[in-house]
Amino acid sequence: MFVITGPSGVGKGTLIRALCDRIPALQISVSATTRQPRPGERDGVSYHFLSQAEFDRRIADGDFVEWAEYSGNRYGTLRSELDRRLRERVPVVLEIEVQGARQVREKMPEAVQVFIAPPSADALRTRLIGRGTDPPEQVQRRLQTATAELEAQPEFTHVIVNDRLDDAIEALVAVVEDELSPA
Ligand code: ADP
Ligand code: 5GP
Repeated sequence: MFVITGPSGVGKGTLIRALCDRIPALQISVSATTRQPRPGERDGVSYHFLSQAEFDRRIADGDFVEWAEYSGNRYGTLRSELDRRLRERVPVVLEIEVQGARQVREKMPEAVQVFIAPPSADALRTRLIGRGTDPPEQVQRRLQTATAELEAQPEFTHVIVNDRLDDAIEALVAVVEDELSPA
């Protein structure tokens, strides 16, 4: 299992898409969230979009491996996304924020954790604004959260700076291939 974390806008989604093109055996865990879908996002593909009540019920039922409150919404990894794949030894990729990565580290220390860092705070801001998916209030909130998230870097075995995209893709592919290759 591969956990890819780092601040919003750093390029996790972009890197994971490229990673899965390069290593098609990887499967992505579709998270659950209470956030509203963005234009073009599809239920069950981008996320499992849940109401607050449904998310609460799934917490009470113990359906989450991890979940966290982030920028006014809740996000979590459903056990159902992982169980069959882990049983069948299908490598799975989680794209989650730092609090969730910590929970996974506690419960599944064998998971490989990769922190994606921006080359600078300014670059992160430019990317988050440039992506054009979040209203200014959300961009502000996410950048505030990013400050604390960046301080978590030393907790991670693998840190990849996403400066030149191609270099970051190669670095991520190398980490994953190394883990997947038989010892
Ligand atoms: P995240 O999934 O971490 O929130 P995204 O993958 O959505 O981040 O990337 C945020 C924005 O930054 C997107 O518009 C993406 O095209 C851009 N981006 C990603 N990597 C780079 C890079 N190395 N250099 C410049 N822009 C990048
Ligand atoms: P976004 O709203 O931009 O899709 O996601 C916001 C943040 O939530 C990102 O940092 C993303 O990695 C994180 N996230 C997405 N899914 C999960 C999840 O299942 N668990 C946790 N803890 N974070 C998630």
